[in-house]
This record gives sequence, structure tokens and C-alpha cells, in this order.
Amino acid sequence: MGLTDAPPPYGTVVFDCDSTLSRIEGIEELSGERREEITRMTSLAMEGEVPLEEVYGRRLELVRPSRADLAAVGERYVEELVPNAAACVAALAFLGKRAVIVSGGLFPPVAHLGRHLGLTDEDVFAVGVSFGADGAYADFDRDTPLARAGGKIEVVAALAAAPRAGALCLVGDGITDLEAAGEAARFVAFGGVERRPAVFDAAAVSCVEADFAALAPLLFAEDELRLLRAEPRFARFTGDIEQYT
Ligand SMILES: [Mg+2]
Repeated sequence: MGLTDAPPPYGTVVFDCDSTLSRIEGIEELSGERREEITRMTSLAMEGEVPLEEVYGRRLELVRPSRADLAAVGERYVEELVPNAAACVAALAFLGKRAVIVSGGLFPPVAHLGRHLGLTDEDVFAVGVSFGADGAYADFDRDTPLARAGGKIEVVAALAAAPRAGALCLVGDGITDLEAAGEAARFVAFGGVERRPAVFDAAAVSCVEADFAALAPLLFAEDELRLLRAEPRFARFTGDIEQYT
């Protein structure tokens, strides 16, 4: 694929949600006895075997998540947060950078995780969902690019072109993240939860540790790491890549 890679500093860092910030795939939490079927569909899509749009609506029709179901998924995202993910987002804020979540997951639970990390809903891009008056599932936003293959390319390109965006770094585990890598100064294949060979093989930069402290030397320049190390709450961000390899 010949991805180019530019080192930090970055002005914007974009994270995937499922199997990146959080250890779970949100849709699988809802699937009950159809779990195996749904998991298989998700894996095929994230490994690039089938286009995302082929499974997206089908999975949701099987699950039909209510408003309450999605509130529970939001809680699960927070419970299953990868270690130091919150500190990493806080470190970006501390350094005056923009942290963003771009997800093919559903907006209510992803936004719940975002708020837990101190992000506003404007920094969360995910798939809208509508409910009936009783809170039952009605439909998902069929116009969003994020429910189809290649959709993250559009969203990440717009973020990279935003005023004062600076250089953009993208962190994710799936094929839909890799697809958008060309819009980023750096793409980090995150394998701390799921290591997907198709994504890893194409990526110039990767992280296999299930700890966001290991991302620090990939996201921050040396002078930024020095600023972070001076803060007790970021003491884990040593930038010492040796301890993770
Ligand atoms: Mg993912």
C-alpha cells in the first residue's frame, strides 16, 4: 500500500472505539444468542473480507437495540476501557490537541464513552440511531458514511482539513481504519485487543500492547513527552518504548 509516515507532533489524534479505546465490539454485547453469527459478520468486515455495508444493516436488524440496550453498551465501553486510554486522551487535552473518536459503532454508546473521556459530542463521529416513542429500535442513519466501507476516509479527511487541525494521527484496529490511513500523517495499527493481519501487514507503525501508555512515544514528540512526564498523572507516559518491546 506504500503508506507514508510522518513523526509527531500531531494537532489531532483520531481513535477508533471498538477493539481500540475499549476492548469490546459494541454490537456483540447486544447479540445474545445470535452472538456467534454477529461476531463472524463483524470479523469478516473488519478483516476486509466483506464490505461493511453488507453486514451493517443485517446485524442491526438481528439485534434491534433499544435505547436502554444502548445505554448498557455505553457502560460496557467504559468498563472495558483499555488501560491508560483515558490518561492518553487527557494528555492530548493537556497539550492543547484535539482528540476525536471516529467509529462505525452507534452514536449513543460511543458518545457516552466520549463524555467519560472528557470529549464533547462534537468530537464523536458514529452512526446515528432512531427509536420509537417507547424506546424501541426504529432505524439507523442510512446516510452516514460510517456504516459503509470507505466511510472513515471521508470523515478523517474532513477532520484533517479542519481549521487548526495540524497533522493528524489515526489509531485503530480494523480495515475501515486502515482505509482512512492515507488521510493521516501517521496511522497506528492497534493490536492490543485484536491483531488483524491484513491491517498490521499494511501499516508502517503498530502497537501490540494492551495499554495506551505504549502509544505515547508514537503519538507525542520528545519535548511533549518531557512536559507529560513532569505531571504525576502522566507518569506512565515515559516514552520508553523498550519497556513494551
Ligand atoms: Mg475497531
